[in-house]
Amino acid sequence: MCIICTGEYKTIENLANLDCLGCTRVTEIPFIHGLKTLICSGCTSLTKIPNIPSLQTVICFNCTSLTEIPMICELEYLNCSRCTSLTEIPPIPSLRCLNCFGCTSLTEIPNILEMKEIYCTDCPGIKKIPNIPTLQYLNCSRCTSLTEIPNFPSLQVLYCYECTSLTEIPNIPGLKSLNCSYCPWISQNSEFGENLKKLIFLQKKLRRRYIGKKLEALYLQISEIYYSPGCKGYELAKRSFHSIL
Ligand SMILES: [Zn+2]
Repeated sequence: MCIICTGEYKTIENLANLDCLGCTRVTEIPFIHGLKTLICSGCTSLTKIPNIPSLQTVICFNCTSLTEIPMICELEYLNCSRCTSLTEIPPIPSLRCLNCFGCTSLTEIPNILEMKEIYCTDCPGIKKIPNIPTLQYLNCSRCTSLTEIPNFPSLQVLYCYECTSLTEIPNIPGLKSLNCSYCPWISQNSEFGENLKKLIFLQKKLRRRYIGKKLEALYLQISEIYYSPGCKGYELAKRSFHSIL
């Protein structure tokens, strides 16, 4: 039971912060004029959030039934991590910080002109992150379908470990901190040479087994699946395959 279930929220005048954290009975958040902060993490029966224009902060971590985030016009901070039913986040112009880690159904990061921080680790459906000129912090680790990192002009911190489809990191001038460990296809990484050797060995072995040009695509696909679950590694596999012919 929370402040919503008991109806207690109705008795509070000028309610600015609403907290119904962890209440699995809540199915709807009431429309409260002037509400600034909403904390409804772990409300697993909640399917949507009302569009209250005054909202500046929404923390709805682990709301696994939530299917949409409205276009809240003054929202600055959104934490919708582990909202596994969420397929998109609208391009809310005022948003400055987005935390959406573990949103496994998400396929895109909204292109918001003045966003400063994005924390989107463990989003396997994300293929691309828009080049946001003001972005200062990005953690996109374990985004296994991500094939490129744009050359962000203001980025200071980049964490992209275990991004298995990434093949390069641009030379971002203002970058102060970078962690790209366990990205098997980034040539700057120490494990790159070793991974390439393993890949060539695997391809030689497959070639011996399936002789014939017809099956060339098959060796490439097999080695691709084995070493790089995404798609960019495919090009690399192709190049090294031709080098051993
Ligand atoms: Zn409740």
